[in-house]
Amino acid sequence: MQGKLITFEGIDGSGKSTQHRMLVGELRSRGRDVLATHEPGGTPLGRRLREVFLETEEMVAPMAELLLFAADRAQHVELLIRPALADGRIVISDRFVDATVAYQGGGRLFGRKTVEKVIKLATGGLSPDLTLYFDIPVEQAIARISERISSTAKTDRMDLETAEFYSRVREEYLAIAKREPERFVVIDASGSIEETHRVVMDTIDRFLEDDNV
Ligand code: ADP
Repeated sequence: MQGKLITFEGIDGSGKSTQHRMLVGELRSRGRDVLATHEPGGTPLGRRLREVFLETEEMVAPMAELLLFAADRAQHVELLIRPALADGRIVISDRFVDATVAYQGGGRLFGRKTVEKVIKLATGGLSPDLTLYFDIPVEQAIARISERISSTAKTDRMDLETAEFYSRVREEYLAIAKREPERFVVIDASGSIEETHRVVMDTIDRFLEDDNV
């Protein structure tokens, strides 16, 4: 049986990586065969690309950024995601195609047609079975990022974007939720880590039950 592709989305600081780790841990403790992965940088080539375009101080042209994310994704889909799905595994990716619609479409202001064309080339049309979108006000997300930077001293180019940029990204995510309410589930990510985790588990349990996975 073909596996399932579940993706996590949200603006930086929404807490999705924290929730991703918790969900993967919980499903594995129940004996589920889960591939935990992320974009960008889910493969060795992707990790090198990630260094090139996220951890650089050089200005990155918006089109170069769009295409580098696409290259990372093409490698990720071909080498990791498709084989895992063919083996019947549950693939849970921290970010996937919607991030490009939101960040490069909404954030960098590329038209949707251009972004969707590039996404289709990179994925060959593979689309998530379920997406959890972690929604949070921009100010709250920025406060979390600032705390993360001060506690880990780790930052990347996206951490330095403006509130206005993140507002556009959030609007674009919410527009996807309107277009595809079945696949794209909005999770309120403004509460505590435990509260959000409970909502994630309820949503995933229902999905796996309905699909008999
Ligand atoms: P993202 O992957 O969306 O950028 P992270 O999971 O890395 O977000 O979380 C960003 C920061 O906020 C981390 O330092 C994390 O510990 C913290 N954090 C995550 N979820 C919450 C929450 N619900 N409440 C408060 N802080 C949180």
